[in-house]
Amino acid sequence: MTLEEKAKLISIIEDRIEETKSAIEELTELTKPVSLDASIGRLSRMDAINNKSINEASLRDKKKLLKRLENALEKSPTDGFGNCTKCGDEIPFGRLEYMPHTTRCVNCVG
Ligand SMILES: [Zn+2]
Repeated sequence: MTLEEKAKLISIIEDRIEETKSAIEELTELTKPVSLDASIGRLSRMDAINNKSINEASLRDKKKLLKRLENALEKSPTDGFGNCTKCGDEIPFGRLEYMPHTTRCVNCVG
């Protein structure tokens, strides 16, 4: 990866971290305990509970993503940045641009 690509990637990672943090904040708000206030009907309370579990799953995913983005950013000053952690090959820039948290090339995923 060229220095320009590297700089671009770092700014993508920083942007994603910010986005993910605000999504986490929002989801944390949405996953607060559902109010048992009788003023919301039984059905809407069930909706709220369903939405809550969807949001909780989403919150877990976002937290994982944030961790991976932060790890990627931490690794950015090192030589191994942008290389597959399994085979050591350079991960194509297009892939990193699309999913900057990735640590493996297409061949080594899964
Ligand atoms: Zn690989």
